[in-house]
Amino acid sequence: MRSQYLVFGQPLIEEAEIAEVVASLRSAWLGTGPKVAEFERRVAAYKGVKYAVAVNSCTAGLHLACLACGLQPGDEVIAPAMTFCATINAIIHAGATPVLADVDRDTFNLDPADVRRKITSRTKAIMPVHFAGRACDMEALVALAAEHGLKIIEDCAHAIETEYAGRKAGTFGTCGVLSFYSTKNIVTGEGGMVLTDDPAIAARLKMLALHGMSQDAWKRFSDDGYKHYDVVEIGFKYNMMDLQAAIGLHQIQRVEAYWRRRQEIWDAYNRAFADLPAARPAPLPANSRHALHLYTLLIDEVRAPVTRDQFMTALHRRNIGTGVHYRAIPVLSVYQQRFGWRPDDFPRAHAIGCSTVSLPISAKLADGDVEDVITAVRDVLLHGQ
Ligand SMILES: *Cc1c(COP(=O)(O)O)cnc(C)c1O
Repeated sequence: MRSQYLVFGQPLIEEAEIAEVVASLRSAWLGTGPKVAEFERRVAAYKGVKYAVAVNSCTAGLHLACLACGLQPGDEVIAPAMTFCATINAIIHAGATPVLADVDRDTFNLDPADVRRKITSRTKAIMPVHFAGRACDMEALVALAAEHGLKIIEDCAHAIETEYAGRKAGTFGTCGVLSFYSTKNIVTGEGGMVLTDDPAIAARLKMLALHGMSQDAWKRFSDDGYKHYDVVEIGFKYNMMDLQAAIGLHQIQRVEAYWRRRQEIWDAYNRAFADLPAARPAPLPANSRHALHLYTLLIDEVRAPVTRDQFMTALHRRNIGTGVHYRAIPVLSVYQQRFGWRPDDFPRAHAIGCSTVSLPISAKLADGDVEDVITAVRDVLLHGQ
């Protein structure tokens, strides 16, 4: 058995990031500054968008994207029942009403047919989540949005490398939002970025992220000398720090190398788990590129000697951390109380939420770590706890 605990979702931090953070500390420019601007340029270039606005989380970015899209109280936004709570919370923070649609059993992604059923006269937007990095059916969702005059805001927290029909995720609607949280494909610790091609939206996002102060107020204490600013909206404190961007501007240079490493791990898992009583991720679709953010197994509780939760405990005892992405939104109490959502109304999301488990797939894993995961998973799923 492993002697060291394998923590789920550990980021790979290299010497360049460490040196850049130290340089930021020595320069004493900690807050939003030139490193944030450089990180934004690099991400915009990678994603092929005109504007990328850095913020302190994807959640903050989704909130601002909702506001910048003009969502108002009473407006409905359709989002998947299988996602992280942040997707739903951002809609609520913006004053709009989330409406859940069920997901596809195999892809875990929004089912366009159920989205269509949920459209009302109040629907203003769709918030697709490219789950685990697998592209949603954007052809169907874009067509639905066009037919009903809806905005699209893509939750790209898992999906920095994702492409669909040759086009990058995050560029199909008004905004796409990335996460650089510590477990994501590239990290800044906490952080996010909103992508858009619309200059007016980009300007509004920037302003809302920094108190509603007039443009480039972050420069007010720079060596250009003090400048007065105006406050033109009631904004938020969502700006990214240079300390965070110092990490991100090196991570973005390695986004493809890290993806290739995860592809190796993904392939090794797929080969090793073919005969187990658990469903592996659906085959990779031909017309899109998967970001390989999560490698999930669906534990077949009829055939397997353990339940999903027993499987996680058994791996934990073997010093391997796992995760659940996610329990379905309608099982969580605050949403049940506030919206009356019931798990049985979203049977596919609920079934996934009860049987899914995510295995470590970070680029930080050494070959020995991958072998340890494979040995432990096979042992538990063939022989029990
Ligand atoms: C991680 C995550 C978020 C939130 O990202 P933060 O940067 O932590 O705010 C939102 N949506 C999904 C699908 C996520 O996985």
